[in-house]
Amino acid sequence: MTKELDWCNLSFGYIPTDYNVRCRFKDGKWGPIEVSSSEYVDMHIAATCLHYGQEVFEGLKAFRGKDGKIRIFRLNDNAERIRQSAEGIKMEPVPQELFTEMVKMVVKLNERFIPPYGSGASLYIRPLEIGMSAQIGVHPSSEYLFLILVTPVGPYFKEGFRPTNICIMRQYDRVAPKGTGRWKVGGNYAASMTAGEHAHELGYSACLYLDPQEKKYIDECGPANFFAVKNGVYITPASESILPSVTNRSLMTLAEDMGIKVERRQIPVEELAEVDEAGECGTAAVASPVAEIHDLDNNIKYVVAKDGEPGPVTTKLYNRLRGIQLGEEPDVHGWCTIVE
Ligand SMILES: *Cc1c(COP(=O)(O)O)cnc(C)c1O
Repeated sequence: MTKELDWCNLSFGYIPTDYNVRCRFKDGKWGPIEVSSSEYVDMHIAATCLHYGQEVFEGLKAFRGKDGKIRIFRLNDNAERIRQSAEGIKMEPVPQELFTEMVKMVVKLNERFIPPYGSGASLYIRPLEIGMSAQIGVHPSSEYLFLILVTPVGPYFKEGFRPTNICIMRQYDRVAPKGTGRWKVGGNYAASMTAGEHAHELGYSACLYLDPQEKKYIDECGPANFFAVKNGVYITPASESILPSVTNRSLMTLAEDMGIKVERRQIPVEELAEVDEAGECGTAAVASPVAEIHDLDNNIKYVVAKDGEPGPVTTKLYNRLRGIQLGEEPDVHGWCTIVE
């Protein structure tokens, strides 16, 4: 790298870094960790990931804190989730210790790409596992590649923490009722692109999916979980077709710490008329406030942010979570792993 990166103006894109780390599962066991500076993977043209989508991934972040220390947010929770995702589609699960060792290693190796404190940017960590066996029959691979790349990313909100509009389109489902929605598999994203692009074309930031069985209850919002605040209570959908978001779980815990009641339950679409705040949550943005939700099939507009501003509860939760990630607030739940 010849010049300093412009930390304050990074987008949520891909910038090459110095190293990635890899580990291969072959002959029934995980091999040694390899450090690579190649941005490419060499694989057989019949590898199962290419033909049948045998792929699971994760997304987490490392931050440079106020005290200069490097913090990785909820590393163990992501290790646990990729294990569940792998088991969900019959892939070899990555052992927790291997996952955590490799994440810490790749962060340390690319330390110079961790954006400075105060820039609003962070180092995005993307672990992924793919099926590598050469086979044409549809059955699980016997060989796997687990790899982790990192890339610095800017603050999700370039125009600041502003509410956006989302829409409901019943002609699309992201996942099947008893399908792969609860696992972080690439195929779910492939299945969501038509709806996502359609929503963007119409000027919405995302499509809010309903439960695929009855289309009665709210599921989630593009690649993020949905939450709302109603009469001072934090509500978020309970559904077996949504991805269990680590951010959502963190916000629920922080809400309870603040004395806010939390309800994880089915949320009928019509209940949107009664909510005071709504938001999308995930690692990329933490919490992204929602202004209006348009039910396009029924021509109903739910105006959530009446004054167009982020709600007080969403703002308080967002600030608290960011504060913990940046070492500005005490990490009372032990969510951050400090990389020495
Ligand atoms: C990754 C993801 C989320 C957010 O999960 P976090 O752990 O909070 O980053 C939500 N929904 C879907 C479909 C996802 O893939």
